[in-house]
Amino acid sequence: MSLNITTRISVSLASIAVLSACGETPAPESLLPVYYDEVRLADIDTAGKLTARCESDEARFREHLAVLESFSGTPTVDDYYQSLDSLFVSMSTISSHAFSLGGIHPDADLRSAGEECELLLSRLGTDISLSRPVFDAVNGIDVSDADDTTKYSHEKLLMSFRLSGVDRNKVSRERIRELNDEIAAIGQEFDRNIREDVRYMELDSVDDLAGLPDDYIAAHQPNDDGKIVISTQYPDVFPFFEYAENDDLRKQMLLLFNNRAYPQNEEVLRKLVVARHELAQLIGFDNYAELVTANKMSGSPERVANFLQDLKEYSGDLRDAEYEVLLARLRVDDAGAERLQPWQTSFIRSKVRREHYDVDTKVVREYFNYDASRDGILTLVQDLFDVRIEPWETDAWHEDVEAYEIFDGDVVIGRFYLDMHPREGKYQHAAMFPFVNGIEGRQLPVAGLICNFPSGTSPMQHSQVVTFLHEFGHLIHWIFAGHHRWSNVSGINTERDFVEAPSQMLQEWVWDYDTISVFAKNAAGDVLPRDLHDRMVASRDFGLGMGTRRQLSFAGISLGLYNTDPADIDFDEHTAEMARAYTRFEPMEGGHFWAAFGHLNGYSAIYYTYQWSLAIGTDMFTRFREGGLRNVEIAKDYRDKVLAPGGSRPAEELVSDFLGRPISFETYADRLRGVGKDVEDD
Ligand SMILES: [Zn+2]
Repeated sequence: MSLNITTRISVSLASIAVLSACGETPAPESLLPVYYDEVRLADIDTAGKLTARCESDEARFREHLAVLESFSGTPTVDDYYQSLDSLFVSMSTISSHAFSLGGIHPDADLRSAGEECELLLSRLGTDISLSRPVFDAVNGIDVSDADDTTKYSHEKLLMSFRLSGVDRNKVSRERIRELNDEIAAIGQEFDRNIREDVRYMELDSVDDLAGLPDDYIAAHQPNDDGKIVISTQYPDVFPFFEYAENDDLRKQMLLLFNNRAYPQNEEVLRKLVVARHELAQLIGFDNYAELVTANKMSGSPERVANFLQDLKEYSGDLRDAEYEVLLARLRVDDAGAERLQPWQTSFIRSKVRREHYDVDTKVVREYFNYDASRDGILTLVQDLFDVRIEPWETDAWHEDVEAYEIFDGDVVIGRFYLDMHPREGKYQHAAMFPFVNGIEGRQLPVAGLICNFPSGTSPMQHSQVVTFLHEFGHLIHWIFAGHHRWSNVSGINTERDFVEAPSQMLQEWVWDYDTISVFAKNAAGDVLPRDLHDRMVASRDFGLGMGTRRQLSFAGISLGLYNTDPADIDFDEHTAEMARAYTRFEPMEGGHFWAAFGHLNGYSAIYYTYQWSLAIGTDMFTRFREGGLRNVEIAKDYRDKVLAPGGSRPAEELVSDFLGRPISFETYADRLRGVGKDVEDD
């Protein structure tokens, strides 16, 4: 399962927040407005209140823009830049709330109001990004005496303007404006179709659940018609793929899963890629992949393609060796099997783990549940980074939501919500949603983790604990980095292809016995045995080759939809081609996986980000591996040099500072080559 951070704040220029230089106020003679709006959830707990708030804010923001556009003095950092940035921040605060509530609020009307609000502010964001007077004023600000962070923020903002098309002619800018509107609405429709399409499979008898854990069977009692209903929601579907012994039912379930949002999203995705292609061309690029990589670490689609090709080569032998092991195991039960099928991978891999590595995932999951994992992860973060996490008394959008504050010493440095269990109409994946971008001396960072885990003390898959840690990695990045002066360097406003690295690195702690033995306990209170943990570690990389190739196929789908003229792309064919290029599987007959591949909207061409970030995260982790996972000095250095700077300097510099050398992808390459591992070892 891929993981997702949602940072799609709809203000195209303002998608950022920062740690500032201590509460400076504009020069007294300045008449330019500076304000940092707050949103209290209790004030927008109905669709009507959210819409009213959004519309009145938007009107005020437009007045603010008019003031900035008619400014006739000499723009400076302390007046013009400060005023513009406060507009970005305030827009981003209301927009982030609207976006988040649009994806998670239990009230469908409020979700719609959230989407409407996001579109309204997105339009305003586009108008600012295309405003020549604002661009000229920003371009005219003399930053030669400013601090380095301000200079970098200024440079980034000018780049954002250019990538928005501000320097195009009037006719083009008009069309860009229309396209941005369309793209925002189409993207919402794409996401909504996925979010709202939960499918169900009816089983005739409990016999069809053979192989599944007892707690799963107990939680899926027959309904009044005697049917057992399994949904495509993650807590239902992933255990089913892993444990259900009935091959045909797993196949039916995967087909159901791979048809979510189909056919609704076929036309929607077509409109999306076509509109983005036209937009990119108007802005001066050959295609959308060029536009979207221009301000990333990778810098170009060609570099991304080369990166994917490199990883493909590194991972080939490992993938083939793993495939042969799985196929051989399949043939123990089905002597005539010619090939492994996609709906068999998880099931057979689980058997191999049990038989070759003596790791029974059904036993393992007895040691994990949500409540204990949450406590364990909070403890880990507190110990590692010397912070304190306390409950935060506040309003939320649902009774399941928990809220916390993070203290550094006696000072609150950020706040967060945990909304961790499935609900009808709720976002179905796992992500960190930003709510407030922290600004030094003005406002604290706030974020929410939105996940779909089993609740309470129900057993939880080990992979879900990994996901939990992953998302928590985004959360601490958001909070530690949320203390800069300017929005486009505060929070996770770093290069998007670096964003996953801190999260992917934090996942490593789930393999640390000292960390998980604190919270991995079964119902009897027994701690996960050390020898079982050691065997889990030994089996950890089994599946890495195939899993990486699967990720590369996703990256190939994502890049391929956007690095060419998309008018004639056949989505099924393109997906099939990528499956053949990277995996040993034929695409599933009748399946349309891409229709519910949400990243094709949010990440567009840059799904490669996960592998790129993983290569960097693996490199960063070498310091902890050598110095100890519980080494608080390294953790402090990491927080200070990589997390806290946020987007105030290029990610490459931050990581190099932390490592004391340039970034290298070699550690990751070695892992993919299986260096030090023998997957065929019995
Ligand atoms: Zn992530």
